[in-house]
Amino acid sequence: MIYGVDVGGSKIEIAVFDNKLQRIESWRVATPKQSYDAFLTQIAALVHQADDKYGCKGQVGIGMPGIVNAKQRVLSANVPCANGKTVKADLMALLERPIAVENDCRCFALSEASLGAGVSYKKVFGAIIGTGAGGGFCIDGALYKSAQGIAGEYGHHPLSALLQQKYGLPIWDCGCGLQGCLERYVAGPGLASLYRHFTDRELTSEQVVAAMRAGEAEAKHAFSCYMDLLGSAFANLIKAYDPEVIVLGGGMSLIDELVEALPQAIEPHVFSAIAVPDIVRAKHGDASGALGAAILGSKLDA
Ligand SMILES: [Zn+2]
Repeated sequence: MIYGVDVGGSKIEIAVFDNKLQRIESWRVATPKQSYDAFLTQIAALVHQADDKYGCKGQVGIGMPGIVNAKQRVLSANVPCANGKTVKADLMALLERPIAVENDCRCFALSEASLGAGVSYKKVFGAIIGTGAGGGFCIDGALYKSAQGIAGEYGHHPLSALLQQKYGLPIWDCGCGLQGCLERYVAGPGLASLYRHFTDRELTSEQVVAAMRAGEAEAKHAFSCYMDLLGSAFANLIKAYDPEVIVLGGGMSLIDELVEALPQAIEPHVFSAIAVPDIVRAKHGDASGALGAAILGSKLDA
């Protein structure tokens, strides 16, 4: 059996797959936030439960927010207790088997490139627009892996000076330690932040979308600014990776107006003779993180 473990800021899910990567079942528990030992013990308990249930020693892939750097240390703001820790080595010792650990957005990209909406393309960028904005690049169904684990972090490219001036935007601090990262403007909470900037009113991003659909002028303006910024963010990743398709995931990708407007929003930010690649929604949705982790786990020698 193969287990894909999807670690989030609030929940850890384990999904059990057969050797053909067909999902059999999954279950989830709360993420221990304060104690690193409790965090490790919780993941080990999930894996051992699956081992006991299926009478085997399954292969394990883990997807989690943050990056795994060249020294194999996890840098993660969402799972603070794991920040700076050698999660892979520590879990391998507890589980007594090789495991794979990868950024959750990269797991999403891999699942969509090899078994999802990007399967008919050779060069696929998977982009999450959700709580955060991150992604990964795949070539021929395999994840492009880089020395320091930061390839694909399109959300931490800087806000364009042109757009900052056009909309009179403030430079917001980012959780990564930099300032003016696009993630603060184009991830899910970014639309609410832009609306607050233009109106001094507090709405959630979902409420801004509802107000836009109801015809409110300020919400329309906030959304059109949001799309301009998202178009520039995606133009940056097209210039960096030149993918044949961009597969969208995360909560914002469920907004029809966003998906429809995105190609036109990208166009002004790339060179005039360059075609915008295909842009499609993910096939696997919220299940993609566990699936991508399982794909990585399936490639390990048992
Ligand atoms: Zn950042």
